[in-house]
Amino acid sequence: ECTSADSREFERVQDRKQGQLMSIYGCSRAGKDAIADGLKELSDKYNYSVSVTTRQPRPGERNEVDYFFITPECFANLEESGGFLESAEYCGNKYGTLASPVVKALEEGRDMVLVLETEGAMKVKSIYPTAISFFVAAPASDLKARMERTETTEKDRRNRLAQIRKEISMIPKYDYLIMNGNGMLEKNIELVHNIIKGQKTRTSVNLDAIEKLRKEY
Ligand code: 5GP
Repeated sequence: ECTSADSREFERVQDRKQGQLMSIYGCSRAGKDAIADGLKELSDKYNYSVSVTTRQPRPGERNEVDYFFITPECFANLEESGGFLESAEYCGNKYGTLASPVVKALEEGRDMVLVLETEGAMKVKSIYPTAISFFVAAPASDLKARMERTETTEKDRRNRLAQIRKEISMIPKYDYLIMNGNGMLEKNIELVHNIIKGQKTRTSVNLDAIEKLRKEY
């Protein structure tokens, strides 16, 4: 009984050295990118993966910085050769997370932040059960005001609100709900950072510390 438990523990101790993988998603204009960017400033332990997409670059977007913009043929090749950790389709375009940079970062103990839509976030979770997912939302009144400042047409605004209604039904699939109302950004960046730190205190990822205590006593 003791031996098998010990070998299982050993495997999990090896896991402990891995960085924390997390995915962030949220409603349009709720501030998911601002939270993801904010983490970068809190700690240089956070790493970001540059995704691959078949979507056309928007004005101001840079290849290899915002995305690797590639053709559908290249995307299919990468998919076939197992180059993606996950991939998904969103609004008619394909998106994928390259596997090797993520695996390498985690093995080196660096934390990885992925900004993914729901399908991708759930795939990541099935591959890495210790990955944690955040959904960023904001009260409707705050979001509507933000949209009024930026959205051009009434139709555009209506489309985004319809999209948000669909997204709300997906919130229970996520581990954490971050309510990013007006004026909450700084506090929420800190909150996400603390949740991630909290993950590192779980007993299941601290078996070496438990073993050390056992020996000390
Ligand atoms: P956008 O085209 O507006 O940059 O991104 C559209 C959606 O795709 C966003 O929700 C974004 O988080 C998601 N996304 C970006 N990169 C990836 C990826 O590599 N995989 C998945 N599954 N979703 C992604």
